[in-house]
Amino acid sequence: DASARSLLTLINDVLDLSKVEAGRMEISDAPFDLAVCLQSGLASLDLTARQKGLSFRCQIDEDVPQSLLGDAGRLQQILINLVGNAVKFTDAGGRITLHCAQSDGRAEVVVTDTGRGIPRGKLESIFDPFVQVDRHLTPERQQGVGLGLAISRDLARAMSGDITVQSDAGKGATFV
Ligand code: ADP
Repeated sequence: DASARSLLTLINDVLDLSKVEAGRMEISDAPFDLAVCLQSGLASLDLTARQKGLSFRCQIDEDVPQSLLGDAGRLQQILINLVGNAVKFTDAGGRITLHCAQSDGRAEVVVTDTGRGIPRGKLESIFDPFVQVDRHLTPERQQGVGLGLAISRDLARAMSGDITVQSDAGKGATFV
């Protein structure tokens, strides 16, 4: 049931964060198909978004290589976190887009939402473990503990990438 699932998520998050911070996270470096990775990773969030009354569009530019090198499972984990946050912090009627572009032979994934946004002063600290902006505004049933972005950025860096954010309060958010 839901409480067992959320407990499992919490345990996995805490383990992932300790592993990656101890330099013990195993990251594979293998070819994978980006479109397949996105489809299988984001299908259930796509449904959740639509059930909440949000539009969710996903676009891959033609010049992005179909096959990329990296850890497809970890990339899915990052994107599930970013799109999950976009769904969580955007009210009905809002829009979420995921856009993959090519940049210097690497894939750049941009997740944009039209939701509540993040005040400028908090843009750095949201990547710290357990930091949540306006916890009281988030419905009980959508609880997280503020580990997703810390893990995601560590994972991205472990794959020699990174995560950056642009946002302001009330202005939506863009994570690259
Ligand atoms: P959690 O989602 O469990 O709270 P995260 O580490 O994923 O933890 O995010 C930390 C905080 O950053 C969130 O609690 C929220 O305040 C803010 N945040 C993250 N993504 C978004 C977004 N797309 N729009 C608005 N705020 C966001």
